[in-house]
Amino acid sequence: MSTETAEPTALDRYECQACGYIYEPLKGDERRQVSATTPFEAVPSSWRCPVCGAPKSRFSNIGEVGSPSGFKENLGYGFGVNTLTPGQKNILIFGALALGFLFFLSLYGLQ
Ligand SMILES: [Zn+2]
Repeated sequence: MSTETAEPTALDRYECQACGYIYEPLKGDERRQVSATTPFEAVPSSWRCPVCGAPKSRFSNIGEVGSPSGFKENLGYGFGVNTLTPGQKNILIFGALALGFLFFLSLYGLQ
């Protein structure tokens, strides 16, 4: 696995926003003289979606083969919890339990 940055790479796939066609850099588009392993950035600007004819500007980066759709956009979600160490998570969990227990006791105290 290479570094997980949002920078486009040569293997990034691009999806046609009009019809869902996915341009695969490893396959290219032989029928339109785009050879295999051509990065989307290197595809001629005159190239259009082979399915619906949409221009390159209608395509959006969906990441490398093997990454789920929207993977790059989702990086950063859950940031707060995932940076905690297991010890810190335990403190949070037991802290919450202790607070709940104190609250429980206070209810009894009111009666
Ligand atoms: Zn299309």
